[in-house]
Amino acid sequence: AAKEGGSRQHRRFTADLDDRAGEAARLGVEMRMGLDTGQFRMVYQPIVALPHGRTKYVESLVRWQHPERGFISPADFIPVAEQNGLIVELGEWILRTACDQFVVWRDRHGADAPQQISVNVSARQLNEPGFVAVVADVLACTGMDAGHLIIEVTETAVFGGGTAVQAVNDLKDLGVRIALDDFGTGHSSLGLLQTVPVDVLKVDKSFVDNLTMAGRHAVIATALIQVSNGLGLDAVAEGVETAEQAAELYRLGYLLAQGYHFGRPVAEPDFRVSEDLAVPVR
Ligand code: C2E
Ligand code: MG
Ligand code: MG
Ligand code: MG
Repeated sequence: AAKEGGSRQHRRFTADLDDRAGEAARLGVEMRMGLDTGQFRMVYQPIVALPHGRTKYVESLVRWQHPERGFISPADFIPVAEQNGLIVELGEWILRTACDQFVVWRDRHGADAPQQISVNVSARQLNEPGFVAVVADVLACTGMDAGHLIIEVTETAVFGGGTAVQAVNDLKDLGVRIALDDFGTGHSSLGLLQTVPVDVLKVDKSFVDNLTMAGRHAVIATALIQVSNGLGLDAVAEGVETAEQAAELYRLGYLLAQGYHFGRPVAEPDFRVSEDLAVPVR
């Protein structure tokens, strides 16, 4: 079956690749322009304490509002920026913008402001020789306490080889906290905890989905909270969309959660939302 009409399939496949390569090239040019003309924005999503839902941390997430194409998802443009290297400049802008915003909130809201802010960092950034120095510079410029910054890395970024593990250790030496993002979706999740100094485990949404259906998801989610507690890490359950999931997570021992149920990523989150979000605990 694979052979039948193979050349036609092949043509379609290469045309597809050309399309994608061309699209990536166009996106790259437009991204350069977007950086220069301020088309990127940051939004912030609360990471809340269970069960009451009060904001503890915020995660910063980048947005691209393209003048003609409209909203473009970071899931689409971050990989392109990784490929063409623009992630280095974009990433530095992201880091500075997020930290500036955090300091403003701390000045304005005091104890109501989030305690820490997390910034996502991709493999290419982590392997960039000057990256740790940029982080140190941003902390110095903003006057922000290193312990208030969480750098989110993925297993794949850390395991991609290069100098990523060294960079993570250097960040730790600065006093920055390290979160492992999308935990459980990579290749060697648990092994990584032995080699990388991690402070926060972000348990991937895939384990939270179907959690209430009683099955493998709940077993794994339980194992992960035990590992996390045993190692003295903060565990954050990602992608919590319902009150039922929040209640179940709390029952399993999760004390931190993030997801649409508590708040979507927005420019100015309401940090004081809470008590009415309290989840019923069985
Ligand atoms: P991530 O770091 O795992 O971020 C969580 C993603 O899940 C975000 O998507 C967030 O909006 C979404 N999310 C949060 N709660 C829920 C929920 O309850 N349900 C569902 N369905 N989704 C939820 P977003 O903002 O589109 O970002 C996608 C990915 O793009 C991020 O995944 C991260 O890998 C990357 N990214 C986003 N912002 C940045 C950035 O500033 N720098 C870098 N290097 N990567 C970024
Ligand atoms: Mg993240
Ligand atoms: Mg994540
Ligand atoms: Mg993710």
